[in-house]
Amino acid sequence: MSRPIYVTRPHLPPLEEFLPYLESIWESGQLTNGGPMHQRLEQALADYLGVEHLSLVGNGTLGLIIALQALDIRGEVITTPYSFVATAHALRWNGIEPVFADIDPQTFNLDPARIEAAITPATTAILPVHCYGTPCAVEAIEAIAQRHGLRVIYDAAHAFGVGQRGQSLLLHGDLSVLSFHATKVFHTFEGGAIVSPDARTKERIEHLRNFGYVDETTVVSAGINGKMSEVNSAFGLLELKHIDAALARRREIDGLYRHLLAGMPGIRCPLPPAVDGGNASYFPILVEPGPRPGRDALYERLKQHGIYARRYFYPLISDFPVYRSSPGAARYNLPNAALAADSVLCLPIYPALTDAEVQRIVQLIADR
Ligand SMILES: *Cc1c(COP(=O)(O)O)cnc(C)c1O
Repeated sequence: MSRPIYVTRPHLPPLEEFLPYLESIWESGQLTNGGPMHQRLEQALADYLGVEHLSLVGNGTLGLIIALQALDIRGEVITTPYSFVATAHALRWNGIEPVFADIDPQTFNLDPARIEAAITPATTAILPVHCYGTPCAVEAIEAIAQRHGLRVIYDAAHAFGVGQRGQSLLLHGDLSVLSFHATKVFHTFEGGAIVSPDARTKERIEHLRNFGYVDETTVVSAGINGKMSEVNSAFGLLELKHIDAALARRREIDGLYRHLLAGMPGIRCPLPPAVDGGNASYFPILVEPGPRPGRDALYERLKQHGIYARRYFYPLISDFPVYRSSPGAARYNLPNAALAADSVLCLPIYPALTDAEVQRIVQLIADR
């Protein structure tokens, strides 16, 4: 049988390309605490992403936790049940109650009308996710936030490099948080970043990221260890050299799937093609109810052939026992999210996936 195919496979440049970076770290002797690699990566990423103020962190979850702390968010925060569980966990780690609102079935992102309906006197912020890299309804969310005096923190873990009308999506909201985990479009093994609107917020985040230290003897907040090491930062600098080629190949695969799946009974590609600023970070299909085997049967069938597609996102965050009693968590309140969780399958997509592998996956779906 052919090699197993996972939903993603981290991009790794040739090892010899990384050795000079390691030599430079060994020479400097500085391994962490904002060394030269860290400084270079912050600048390079800010330039690449088209933002002014960016702070690296150890991972995306820490980024979310620190972002919520930086804005002093309390009480209730409205968020989506259709995401990776870390979105809600970051709230709980700050003693904040997640309030779940339903998604728009077209975009899989929070439905602005449902956000507004979920606001209570305890609401202080909105934590939307740009699911699969599809931009949220940023203008409508901004208007709601203004009307009700709420902050907006975007979980932009899927949105690396996504643009809208030539502008970075990361400029919306009060803060945006990226993940550079190995499974993401751009990765540093583990890592993440917070995009701030101004230098003062960035400074506050950087204190929180470093135990609250502002100088050798002054601690201004109960900070955490949220730093990215020099090795991770160096790897990011190298990955950045390959990112345009990786994104181009992802978009090609996105196009090939669409072409091969077009018109297939019971299968729908719900997202628009990843042209015009999309990053093709995921390739979700909807397996519609009908005479043919359903989503879970297809998932099992692919697995039997060594193809590990993923049910992102199933179960819903609100279905995990730790969140089942949170406001809005009942499935009747979240019909669109529940339907998506029961019918979405994310197919493998990553730069090293070959056209022949895509054809084989689609053939297995066709023959189900
Ligand atoms: C990956 C991911 C995170 C967590 O990022 P880590 O870097 O793995 O901590 C948070 N939210 C979403 C939507 C994610 O996909």
